[in-house]
Amino acid sequence: MGKTYETVIGLEVHVELATRTKIFCGCKTAFGARPNTLVCPVCLGMPGTLPVLNRKVAELAASVGLSLHCEVNRVTRFDRKNYFYPDNPQNYQISQLYLPICRDGRLTLSEGRTIRIHEIHAEEDAGKLMHEERSGETLVDYNRAGVPLIEIVTEPDFRSGEEVIAFLEQLKTTIEYLEASDCKLQEGSLRVDVNLSIKEQGSERLGVRTEMKNLNSFHAILRAIKVEGERQRRILEDGGSISLETRRWDDAKGESFPMRSKEEVRDYRYFPDPDLPAVHLSEAWIETLRSRLPEMRKEKKERFILEYGVPEYDAELLTGSIYLARLFERTVALGVPPKKVSNFLMGEGLRLLREKEMDAKDIKLTPEGFARLIAMNEEKRITNAVAKEVFEAAFDSGIDPEAYVAGRGLMTVRDEDLLRKTVEKVIAENEKSVRDYLGGKEKALSFLVGQTMKAMKGQAEPATVTALLKELLSV
Ligand code: ADP
Ligand code: MG
Ligand code: ZN
Repeated sequence: MGKTYETVIGLEVHVELATRTKIFCGCKTAFGARPNTLVCPVCLGMPGTLPVLNRKVAELAASVGLSLHCEVNRVTRFDRKNYFYPDNPQNYQISQLYLPICRDGRLTLSEGRTIRIHEIHAEEDAGKLMHEERSGETLVDYNRAGVPLIEIVTEPDFRSGEEVIAFLEQLKTTIEYLEASDCKLQEGSLRVDVNLSIKEQGSERLGVRTEMKNLNSFHAILRAIKVEGERQRRILEDGGSISLETRRWDDAKGESFPMRSKEEVRDYRYFPDPDLPAVHLSEAWIETLRSRLPEMRKEKKERFILEYGVPEYDAELLTGSIYLARLFERTVALGVPPKKVSNFLMGEGLRLLREKEMDAKDIKLTPEGFARLIAMNEEKRITNAVAKEVFEAAFDSGIDPEAYVAGRGLMTVRDEDLLRKTVEKVIAENEKSVRDYLGGKEKALSFLVGQTMKAMKGQAEPATVTALLKELLSV
């Protein structure tokens, strides 16, 4: 005993590419359509049909590769991976084994470590099986069959779950900046398989790994890594050995279960797909793609600091998602002071994203609405408290802030009489606080201000309320 073990992790990340149509046919890729309405003879695997590569797939896959410092292969080819499963109408998946589109890349984590990318290959997605609990039947929806995927395969370079999450966050940001995918774990457009083994600290030799599937959130990934690491450690400490297998993570149970012993490459009888010619990617084509890569996070962050004068901390968080960065920039373009926009997004925006477990992509507040909201607040037509309420309401619904304020009568109350009556009522109902305040406790005044604000539903200016309270309580 007394050995120290180290966790070793490698990832296989599947990303659905944001093309309008499928990889080898003209069917649409939309999510959530009625089952089996986005299909044709090609993606249903009918005999006599022929696949034709969607040019956009090569462009997006190579762009992701270039952003991850990969080599783009000048010749890339598709292979058949043969297996039978009802979600796969051809009985083989068109994927890439021998000549993937990209290889040998890297992503450097913000804390400094570099994770090597082994390769990126393109392939088609399978359909979806739906198990009906009640009838015990299984239904199949082929809308997803033929949706383009890239699989990003890393080297086993991770040593902790935290590194894995940092990598995935950076990867997601990069892919979103490229608009190559919407990267939604919940909708399956980003899917992560975790390969994990344990080795003795300092040893060069890697242990036998397991592969975990069905990880639907970053939280689940982190937990699964911890639990699987502990499971393997226990087995090794008891003198047992790990079997090479695929396991399914059950997040509700907080446990993984064996699915099948791990298949090997030779089990799939891969061979080059005779229906698809090799794709030649010219130097010029690759250079054009490279020159068209959009401004990425690092450059955007630096530009935000220079151009808008926002603090580095703000720039870092605002550029964490292209959607947040865009909302910021488009609102500022309407003439709103950058710091005002940033304060709202950094405070309320990030809080809402966290609390609602929302993706920044789903923010519905428009730059125009946002600008009007800030203007109303600046002109003191609404108080800070109301501004926050309106921001929250518009954030994921997109309702127009002005209409919302008008519809609910949220304008700041300027009615002196009403305010005075409310303050008098608060004074009458809070004798103890009044006594405390008169006895010298400044804190009691804040309480009375708070009570008045509450009675005014946040629609009074705190400064006016404070002044009025002081006036009425002055002896
Ligand atoms: P397969 O395609 O059969 O799953 P690969 O050799 O391509 O197998 O490896 C897939 C993933 O497993 C890669 O992300 C790689 O980094 C990771 N991996 C390979 N060996 C180990 C290991 N011993 N421990 C942890 N991860 C590993
Ligand atoms: Mg694998
Ligand atoms: Zn089709």
